[in-house]
Amino acid sequence: MLAKNGGKYILFALAALLLCLFALHAAQQREETAKPHVLESFRLGTVTRVALYGENAAAEKALAEADKFLREFERIFSVNIASSDISRLNAKAGEWVAVSGECFRLVERARELAELTEGAFNPAIGGVVRLWRTGTPDQRIPERGEIEKALQSCDYRKIESRASEDGRYLRIPRGMELDLGAIAKGRAADMLKEKLREAGVKSAIIDLGGNLDVIGLSPEGRGWRLGLQRPWSPRGEYFGIVEAEDISVVTSGPYERCFEKDGKIYHHIIDPASGFPAESGLSSVTVIDGDSALADALCTALFVMGRDRAAKFLEKNGGVAAVLLSASGKTAFVTPAARKIFRLTDENIALEEIGGGSR
Ligand code: AMP
Ligand code: MG
Repeated sequence: MLAKNGGKYILFALAALLLCLFALHAAQQREETAKPHVLESFRLGTVTRVALYGENAAAEKALAEADKFLREFERIFSVNIASSDISRLNAKAGEWVAVSGECFRLVERARELAELTEGAFNPAIGGVVRLWRTGTPDQRIPERGEIEKALQSCDYRKIESRASEDGRYLRIPRGMELDLGAIAKGRAADMLKEKLREAGVKSAIIDLGGNLDVIGLSPEGRGWRLGLQRPWSPRGEYFGIVEAEDISVVTSGPYERCFEKDGKIYHHIIDPASGFPAESGLSSVTVIDGDSALADALCTALFVMGRDRAAKFLEKNGGVAAVLLSASGKTAFVTPAARKIFRLTDENIALEEIGGGSR
């Protein structure tokens, strides 16, 4: 009898032990997946942060791939690396230059988006941007004559491309300088998201200097909550929140890079019509989209356009989720698509709908 019961007890004890081990393993896994694995570096001229959730070994491997990818991307697109595709293109303006598939595709996309925005986003604006040197120790107000001259070499329609079996080539006219600063971080985020998804990542947040991108749901199993920066305020102070999954939230604003001279603010977003910082009556524009390159280029373009022109553009190109904040910071102009995922957290800001006309 005792022996029989003893056998039972042993079985019970074994089952309990197994249960404990199982619970321990599950808890350990939960802990692993609840803590983000983080990569922070200085890339693409900005602080970049990739935080992903998942089981240790796979997450660390994915982070190593992210690091490798960002380095490679920089080697193609950085204007600070003489051998990059973009530096070679600019240095050899007037000649056909062999470029990588990535550079070819991004320049083509940039040209399309320049067409779409009627040049408000203009990747050929480099010559003018360089005159201002905004954000560098020698930032300055250029002479009108310099600006007029540089503006003559900013016609993005003159960017030529040629693809054949022996490779891909681009040619920009002599005097032109490409600047992909308003779209490259978006494209980097798109490519990085793709790589991370392929590596099995189900939940991640990528911050490329304010270009925010998320994969999947947050670790709490809900949409990610992403704050929209209040212009001219300390980083992390928000005026509204976007809640969504698998999305890119890109913001452009003068406060990101600017200088003051004689009581006037000069910033880094250039109106290609004047060659001067855009004075469009806005203090920031956010575009929310699954396509980060599109969101990046569009938010720069909408900022240049200002409220009225942007409203017309948004009516014509229905479905874009955008939030435009007035220069006074008192009104947020929000498209119908954005209203579904965005809410104001500052009750002193009035919400006005724009761009809903044609739907
Ligand atoms: P973003 O922060 O995305 O608005 O990009 C701004 C950066 O893009 C600037 O620092 C310039 O290098 C470049 N840029 C400035 N104005 C324009 C424009 N109108 N179109 C395209 N790129 C621009
Ligand atoms: Mg942009």
